Amino acid sequence: MGDYFQTIVDLDATERDAQELGARVLEWLIAEGIVAAERTDCVLGGDGYGHAPGPHFTKAVDDPDPVELWSNGVHVETGRTVFDSGQGDAGAAVCPLCRTEIRLVDEMWQPIESAWEPFKGRFHDWAEGGGEGIVHCPSCGGSSGIARWSWEDDYYACGQLGFTFWGWAELTSGFTREVRRTLGGHRTVLLAGKL
Ligand SMILES: [Zn+2]
Repeated sequence: MGDYFQTIVDLDATERDAQELGARVLEWLIAEGIVAAERTDCVLGGDGYGHAPGPHFTKAVDDPDPVELWSNGVHVETGRTVFDSGQGDAGAAVCPLCRTEIRLVDEMWQPIESAWEPFKGRFHDWAEGGGEGIVHCPSCGGSSGIARWSWEDDYYACGQLGFTFWGWAELTSGFTREVRRTLGGHRTVLLAGKL
């Protein structure tokens, strides 16, 4: 048994405005009573500290049952981060230039070594090296940064800002729409996974 999480990743936040945008959304979550104002040790990621569910957390989810896990907080992550869905692997990657889907796993859901070749080390280049992590598309031959590729089931997302909800029921589309609005209409993806 693992710990489920969902992460809303802002694809448009920049190094410059991620911090401020994160604070803006957090302020809104606190004002709505969706999360508690104080930070407590209630999350698994980062430094373990986050915001526990507030009295009106059901504004964000369909399921009115109280979240019972101790690890049930919300954690805001800023700075270059490769967000992923935890267990398992990405099934496919899609080139931002030609939209070709590159299968990354076989029928047994085992990674295809050769398919991963163009992506090797690119996440690291982007996240740690401050570079673009340029990927040469095996289909169209074009070059584009790893952050621009999309992944089956949104398994990965490269972003400067992410909100991780630990142990919450499925976040509603209305809630994620409100988050997007608070972010000034930025594009977001929702990652769901477990540790
Ligand atoms: Zn391509």
